[in-house]
Amino acid sequence: MEFLHDLTIKKLHLGLLTKKFTAVEVTQAFFRHIKNRDGEIGAYLSLNEEQAIRTAEETDIQIAKNDAPIALLAGVPIAIKDNILVEKLPATAGSKMLESYRASYSATVIKKIDEAKGVILGKTNMDEFAMGSSTENSAFQKTKNPHDTQRVPGGSSGGSAAAVSATLAVAALGSDTGGSIRQPAAFCGVVGLKPTYGAVSRHGVIAMASSLDQIGPLTKTVEDAKILFDVIKGKDTYDATSTQYPNNKNPGNATEAVKKIRVGIPKEYFIEGLENAVSDAVQKVIRDFKGLQVSFEEVSLPHTPHALSCYYIIMPAEVSANLARFDGIRYARLSTNEPIRAGKSALETAYLSQRACGFGAETQRRILLGTFVLSSGYHDAYYGKAQKVRALITRDFKEVFKKVDVLLAPTTPTRAFAVGEKSNDPLAMYLSDIFTIPANLAGLPAISIPVKAEEGLPIGFQLIGKHFHEDDLLNLGMAYESLYAPTVQKD
Ligand code: GLN
Repeated sequence: MEFLHDLTIKKLHLGLLTKKFTAVEVTQAFFRHIKNRDGEIGAYLSLNEEQAIRTAEETDIQIAKNDAPIALLAGVPIAIKDNILVEKLPATAGSKMLESYRASYSATVIKKIDEAKGVILGKTNMDEFAMGSSTENSAFQKTKNPHDTQRVPGGSSGGSAAAVSATLAVAALGSDTGGSIRQPAAFCGVVGLKPTYGAVSRHGVIAMASSLDQIGPLTKTVEDAKILFDVIKGKDTYDATSTQYPNNKNPGNATEAVKKIRVGIPKEYFIEGLENAVSDAVQKVIRDFKGLQVSFEEVSLPHTPHALSCYYIIMPAEVSANLARFDGIRYARLSTNEPIRAGKSALETAYLSQRACGFGAETQRRILLGTFVLSSGYHDAYYGKAQKVRALITRDFKEVFKKVDVLLAPTTPTRAFAVGEKSNDPLAMYLSDIFTIPANLAGLPAISIPVKAEEGLPIGFQLIGKHFHEDDLLNLGMAYESLYAPTVQKD
């Protein structure tokens, strides 16, 4: 199908209602395209073809029967990051540890997609347990950036971002603990929304760092991100951190709504090391917004320079606690025939060998780091101090949000880097999340949107909003996109 590449959720929905195509035809076309193109991209780890066709058939039957209403997501082909459980499908989280695991239940976000009759195409590649910024830490394969296959797609939701970017899905779900939705979205030229902490249930998501993790959409347009976010958000009794989502505060026309929004430019986000192409692109975005009568002012978030080090203490501490369950006995089982180690029991030998061969290098590094910062004698010096810094970072945002409604900044300091360029330099890799981490530490919603009319590699700009004010980010994004929308032909 020729039209696949520009199919958004909205267009697909209209096409189904006007009987331009059926949901089964669309689903089959996506699987054909995946089989042709994914060999080169490596976005998917597993496919869900049979079930996907069955779900699409249900939508076609509903349409044929004129069984109104048809949900916006009905018949929409969606890719799911492999740390989100879909009943009966593999959920490896990119780790050898879970290579043979199959989910025994579906995450709440998946149940919501199922109810809306979204079509799940398969599970996407990711850095092991969501730790990484390039998807090179997957135990199974390296995903390539569809804009240049010599480059990384970003991470850790690199498979999901690449799938949407290469038209291997209309939309995808990812997870974002320190930037894992927004950074790959920026690298692959798609939209990525990290919702407010607590806006979306994390029940059925393989936890990385529980005080930071959120699930969110990766889509072609901001409007599509809004549609998918509306489906997955809301309180869930299975996740005590989820909250009843407050009513939309600024409904209605985005171009009108944005005239009331005050945007702050945080000066700490325009630093040395920011690639010229990125900073020029962000300046162009600001000029575009000014044309829409959005008002701007410079603001300061003074504790920003400490965000990265604060995150690299809190996150590994939580990782070491969450990953303790993968001991090779209860949650995963690998076959090792190692003889009982000297001075150890059979059980200890099993733990040691399972974890040594089940976890990759980056995962082991973070478990060690996290165990160290939590250990007796160091806990207060590292973990306790990092919590205090986190409070200061959160307070910075609270202060600026007295003056402005939204912050605008680059999503990443550079465009997509080359495969292998940073894989042996963890610190250089960690720096790619320097602009995305603060929103996680403060639990704020943030979105990455591709800068329009750019030649060459994609660049993303980021909007960060107040808690539960996704509407401001989405309205600004939709107003921005409307500037570049092809003018509607009158016939
Ligand atoms: N790239 C960051 C890290 O490696 C963020 C990961 C994420 O958001 N899951 O920790």
